[in-house]
Amino acid sequence: MRVALYPGSFDPITYGHLDILKRAKRLFDKLIVAVVENPRKAPLFTATERRWLVEQALAEEGITGVEVITYSGLLIECAKELGVAAVVRGLRATSDFDYEFQLALTNRDLDSDIESVFLMTAGQYSFLSSSIVKEVKQYGGDVSKFVPTCVERALAEKFGQPGPGGKTKK
Ligand code: ADP
Repeated sequence: MRVALYPGSFDPITYGHLDILKRAKRLFDKLIVAVVENPRKAPLFTATERRWLVEQALAEEGITGVEVITYSGLLIECAKELGVAAVVRGLRATSDFDYEFQLALTNRDLDSDIESVFLMTAGQYSFLSSSIVKEVKQYGGDVSKFVPTCVERALAEKFGQPGPGGKTKK
């Protein structure tokens, strides 16, 4: 069985992440999404919230058969422990390349058995990032084209705004 790991901050998950996830699902027998607990960037959502949002987004999109975990520490150790064949990463415009190249070669150095697989995003998501979504939402912009409703609602709550449909959570 070919198992792949899709790691990331997912702070929060967007349709761009979901696009990569669906593509990876077609290539592997099993996909595990790993939400990193200690990302370089100070996250808006806790690891538990981010993991929960990934699970909710998968349910909302009707995507089944994906395991979601949180992890801290070295990605390659997590990949080894889980016995995965590959680590999946998404590529947007050229801006992702330098960092992804560095990460992939470092991981290969640490364990040459685990391959990095890069999947190209759909054109409409090539500009999309969790940071942009947070920025737009923080200033009251509409992010419904970028994230599932559960994420939109969670962002509204974080920023103390009325949720989708105009309801504020009590
Ligand atoms: P990280 O902090 O590990 O980069 P992210 O949640 O920002 O975590 O991204 C996780 C992975 O998903 C990365 O490989 C990133 O390039 C990819 N990704 C993020 N947004 C998109 C998008 N809109 N389209 C395709 N891939 C994306």
